[in-house]
Amino acid sequence: MSRIAVIGAGASGLMVSGLLAEKKHDVYVLEKNEKAGKKLYITGKGRCNLTNLCLPDEFLKNVVRGGKFMTSAIYSFSSEDCINFFEGLGLKTKVERGNRVFPESDKASDVIKVLKENHCKDVKFMFNCDVLSITKQNEKFLLNTSNGKLEFDKIIIATGGKSYKATGSDGAGYKFAKILGHTVEMPVPALCPLILKDSFVGNLQGVSLKNVQLNVVANGKKFGLFGEMLFTDKGISGPIVLSVSSLINRAKDVKLSLDFKPALSQEQLEQRILRDFENAKNKNLKFVLNGLLPKAVASVFAVAVKIDENKKVHDITKSERKTLAYNLKNFKLEFGGLYGIDTGIVTSGGVNVKEINPKTFESKIVNGLYFLGEVLDVDALTGGFNLQCCWSTAYACAENFE
Ligand SMILES: Cc1cc2nc3c(=O)[nH]c(=O)nc-3n(C[C@H](O)[C@H](O)[C@H](O)COP(=O)(O)OP(=O)(O)OC[C@H]3O[C@@H](n4cnc5c(N)ncnc54)[C@H](O)[C@@H]3O)c2cc1C
Repeated sequence: MSRIAVIGAGASGLMVSGLLAEKKHDVYVLEKNEKAGKKLYITGKGRCNLTNLCLPDEFLKNVVRGGKFMTSAIYSFSSEDCINFFEGLGLKTKVERGNRVFPESDKASDVIKVLKENHCKDVKFMFNCDVLSITKQNEKFLLNTSNGKLEFDKIIIATGGKSYKATGSDGAGYKFAKILGHTVEMPVPALCPLILKDSFVGNLQGVSLKNVQLNVVANGKKFGLFGEMLFTDKGISGPIVLSVSSLINRAKDVKLSLDFKPALSQEQLEQRILRDFENAKNKNLKFVLNGLLPKAVASVFAVAVKIDENKKVHDITKSERKTLAYNLKNFKLEFGGLYGIDTGIVTSGGVNVKEINPKTFESKIVNGLYFLGEVLDVDALTGGFNLQCCWSTAYACAENFE
């Protein structure tokens, strides 16, 4: 029986500590907040999208960094296992659009409750206990904490990433990893909004667009994501933008353009505009554009493509008509970078996974030291994939713990 310190009472920390206590280890959770699961509480807009019900192969396609490293853990504790685990703790779950799994109650607090009260009933919690430093001496780990010095046989670092630091995850785990001899891949925001340099941005704050495609060329690689997005004070956000951010957050050269009419080919769109013009010959261009775009966007669009929206439709030249059609499918947005790291739903980067055993999550550098969850250089897209990575790392660690 080992005396184990789990640093962090977040998703991965709660999961691993309950499992290790079941195996009769002496488990202490050291959490700097006054309670467990502050980040879990705000997941899924307070509803906690706790996993994504899909087969491991499909699952792994949604892991942006660390997919190969995570393969074994995802196979040994899949999303189906996760649902069974939570149902076994008394939490009823439901599956929504996109295979997203939520508690039936729609309350993230219920996820924390079953983890803390049912799963971790034999775990000793030390709240308001900020771990300040970790050293290893004579096979023991010495922790300097805000509650004094503590000694353990094994240490599990489950301190999370570096975003939403008000929840407690402020990057301390990276500092510990480095001091203990690990490499940390540079943490950058993922699943975050994007800044645009275009002068019109502020005018569109709050405007949302549905069924559009954001096209991207990042370091010469092209791709596009279809769905919803919205304008913010300084740029863009919403589901497709968050996903794009995770795919470009390390790219040096990024070009963005918006296809307002992805369901139509360029030719079909030109035909549609011709018909609209036919039906509105004596009206202003503004009238036609309002039928094609949300009103706020229509005005901005006309300015950006340099065609007067008050011009009569019958005065619009063929070349202007072509310009309109072209820009409706290729509206340039000037990328100005990512929002700050605190705004990322997750942090990309973290403890280098080459230095971690993917079956046990033990460090290959320091015996008895483990890293779980977001502190690792693993991140995934939205849909419950990030939490499942936390559950799976914790399960694999506990299952193979010696
Ligand atoms: C707004 C938001 C919504 C999200 N929604 C979803 C979702 O619906 N589905 C999904 O899959 N993912 C979601 N995520 C991502 C997911 O919440 C995280 O990936 C996950 O919580 C990470 O878990 P973790 O155990 O690694 O770390 P965390 O949950 O961040 O826990 C780390 C804990 O360690 C503690 N800690 C840190 N340093 C110290 C220290 N020095 N001493 C003591 N304690 C310390 C912290 O206080 C914290 O409690 C969301 C994230 C955010 C920000």
